[in-house]
Amino acid sequence: MLPVIALVGRPNVGKSTLFNRLTRSRDALVADQPGLTRDRQYGVGKLGDRPYVVVDTGGLSGEESGVDQLMEQQVQAAIAEADHILFLLDARAGCTPADAVIASQLRRTGKPVSAVVNKSENLDGAMAGADFFSLGLGEPLPISAAHGRGVRSLINDVLDAF
Ligand code: GDP
Ligand code: MG
Repeated sequence: MLPVIALVGRPNVGKSTLFNRLTRSRDALVADQPGLTRDRQYGVGKLGDRPYVVVDTGGLSGEESGVDQLMEQQVQAAIAEADHILFLLDARAGCTPADAVIASQLRRTGKPVSAVVNKSENLDGAMAGADFFSLGLGEPLPISAAHGRGVRSLINDVLDAF
């Protein structure tokens, strides 16, 4: 069985951009429009000779009322089948109330979660992460999915645990 890595986070944080980079596929729809990927997308990535499955999700809204139940169910299904969850955050937007709601949901899963601060290409790593320490998910890891920065070492660390 290949390790399954799920990408979770608010719409527009860069999940599909990261999915595309990891799988080098053009299957995941990437757009400026938030929340475009509504169903789960599966792809296979490889780091050296180590393959893994990556799941892109439609994203969690982080709204207490759970406005979009279908989206919520998709994400819960992805979490259920995941061995490791990458919780994507947006360095440019900073830590939002929705991020805090999602973080508390993820802490309840009991699965390994990494807080990943995307769009960090113009920021020093410590700066990018500082805003997100309060989520209680350990040291936030800065990456740039668009530019590829930090992505290999992130996946390497995830795979090392298997
Ligand atoms: P999703 O809704 O979480 O799947 O987010 P997308 O992958 O569709 O990306 C949302 C927007 O953020 C798009 O305009 C991307 O080009 C942009 N984006 C994604 N990754 C990065 C990054 O590392 N840096 C910057 N500056 N923009 C990014
Ligand atoms: Mg998407």
